[in-house]
Amino acid sequence: MQASFKTTCCYCGVGCGIVVHKDRQGKLHVEGDTAHPVNRGMLCSKGMNLHYTVMDTSDRLLYPEMRYHRNLPRQRASWDQALERTAAVFAAIIKKHGPDAVAFYASGQCLTEEYYVVNKLIKGFIGSNNIDTNSRLCMSSAVAAYKMALGEDAVPGTYDDIEQADCIFVAGANPAWCHPIIWRRVEAAKAANPAMKIIVSDPRVTQSCSLADLHLQVNPGTDIVLHHAIGRALITGGYTDSGFIGAHTNGFAAYREAVTARSIEEAAAICGIAAADIYTAAEYIGNAQGFMTFWTMGLNQSAVGVHKNLSLINLHLITGHIGKPGSGPFSLTGQPNAMGGREVGGLSNLLPAHRVLSNPQHRQEVQEFWGGTALSDKPGLTATEMFSALHDGRLKAIWIMCTNPLISLPDVRFAEAALQKAKYVVVQEISSKPETLRYADVVLPAAAWTEKEGTMTNAERRISYLTKVNDAPGEALPDAEIICRFAKKMGYHGFDYTNVSEIYDEHCRLTAGTNIDISHLNYDIIKKQRSVQWPYTGGQGTPRLFGDHRFYTPDEKAMIHHFEDENKSEPLSSDLPLILTTGRIRDQWHTMSKTGKVSKLKQHIATSFLEIHPEDARQRGIHADDMVTVSNGRGTVRVKAQLSNTIKQGVVFLPMHWGKILNSDLHRANNLTSQLLDPISKQPDFKYAAVQVERYRKP
Ligand code: SF4
Repeated sequence: MQASFKTTCCYCGVGCGIVVHKDRQGKLHVEGDTAHPVNRGMLCSKGMNLHYTVMDTSDRLLYPEMRYHRNLPRQRASWDQALERTAAVFAAIIKKHGPDAVAFYASGQCLTEEYYVVNKLIKGFIGSNNIDTNSRLCMSSAVAAYKMALGEDAVPGTYDDIEQADCIFVAGANPAWCHPIIWRRVEAAKAANPAMKIIVSDPRVTQSCSLADLHLQVNPGTDIVLHHAIGRALITGGYTDSGFIGAHTNGFAAYREAVTARSIEEAAAICGIAAADIYTAAEYIGNAQGFMTFWTMGLNQSAVGVHKNLSLINLHLITGHIGKPGSGPFSLTGQPNAMGGREVGGLSNLLPAHRVLSNPQHRQEVQEFWGGTALSDKPGLTATEMFSALHDGRLKAIWIMCTNPLISLPDVRFAEAALQKAKYVVVQEISSKPETLRYADVVLPAAAWTEKEGTMTNAERRISYLTKVNDAPGEALPDAEIICRFAKKMGYHGFDYTNVSEIYDEHCRLTAGTNIDISHLNYDIIKKQRSVQWPYTGGQGTPRLFGDHRFYTPDEKAMIHHFEDENKSEPLSSDLPLILTTGRIRDQWHTMSKTGKVSKLKQHIATSFLEIHPEDARQRGIHADDMVTVSNGRGTVRVKAQLSNTIKQGVVFLPMHWGKILNSDLHRANNLTSQLLDPISKQPDFKYAAVQVERYRKP
């Protein structure tokens, strides 16, 4: 007999609905949920192969392990032994060095309930704000920009806007590969409405460009110049909505002055595109009834990521294309629950329900609700700052949960050296493969997708339910249970939940009166309805925000920000003359700890490679498939060259997925990336590193 379970894909922020079928032998098979409003039965290559990932338990961690000294091997331990020892070490460190000497580094793949309890533990009871997640590497620039422009970290639109748009601008993203189900909806919408215009800006000719009416192949680092120039062309072309600007925004006059500082022709030269293309983009946007923008890492992962985001959002604010069907600035989320993590305040600068750490009233509300210690007003360490603090000894202990920083952090050799210096490292993981385990004093085996239940929130503010289908192998436990057991070992009250629904319901109550209010929601409703969009007062929730053009700012007006258009990435030099940009390939997910287990997914691209323009290759005597060395002062990568006219001259591309192979780290793109951060979002500048490329000759 077969049983079927409805759940949600655990990979990207699209948030597709999945049906898991389980046969009598316990074998699983997945298919798209035809009733789900996001994917309507479709799945991408990663989603449709999820059952292989779940069924292969050969690499799973089965039991807790611990060691009493760095030089000793870890031994199998009971849960009590591992957690009691960790609680004793944490308590000793906190007593001697204060609460800011410990930190939790979590993941946008954690469920909302997991995020909630770990955030409650460190902020509400340990008394530090040292919690951050790998979402910092992904979309913190978009979060900051939404807040600065609209008064709240809130995606205004919904996926159903796609079918109602007639101009879609994709900036610094390749959704055809990275958010495939969104892209299939865009493809279908364009097929139904051939007049729909698609604009893509990207230094590479990606798969998404095949659908584009206009590809703006900009030089890396010139996005603000491009967006400002389009803004100028919209103003001079008479395409702005003066009624909307006057009634619902602030800052237009200063913006107009800033964007008219450069001529379109000057901007085009900086961007490396034709001026005519900027006018065409403005014409497409200006003539649209519904205008959407989609973006991801090309804008976010930058030393000026927040300004890149704001410059794109401005195009909506000057044309009034926000809060109405088919319109809105839409940040595509990389991870499945980056948004849910922020709802519960799981970043170093946040409190639950998007409350603000620097606001004494907000701290008071949360402390009274949790009943723990007074909340610190000192912002915690962000993702990369944690590793810097391990390096210089300010941070003594780190708890790494559901993430693989020794592939995903920038300047990753620095991060690895930092872990070597840590006094105590806890790794909470499903797999025995991540390199972080080498440095772990304690390893805690976690349950994986289908082995636990809970909720996640996708990119369109849709909270979805995830079902438990099968038991975790060995002694692995759900992440929320691990954290709660640890909190109790530390002697803290308030972690006696008997099931996940109690955690979720507590989170719902804490949102009362905030902009993301879901206090009328509870776990039973989510479980029954499968998904709703926040804020929630009933029914299916709120698909679209700002329909009344009242924004979450004090005067309810959106803010049109202005700023310089300078690129603040590291400079090129005669020794390091090429710009390295990194990104994903179609069939792999992040650091491949799940997709890497599926042989089918390696058929598309099996190994790492360097994409390089034929002219840059010719100048270096490099031929197709030659081994090349990519290097700078931070590290080296050695892979095969792939010559391609699809990348701009002067730019090279490496996929970000690969880590160490047979103890060699020469495939790891982040050996080369820079620690430069956006000063507001603290998101690293992954998309622009100065490198040299040479043909590799065996010594
Ligand atoms: Fe999963 Fe994203 Fe693919 Fe949907 S698009 S199936 S959420 S990986």
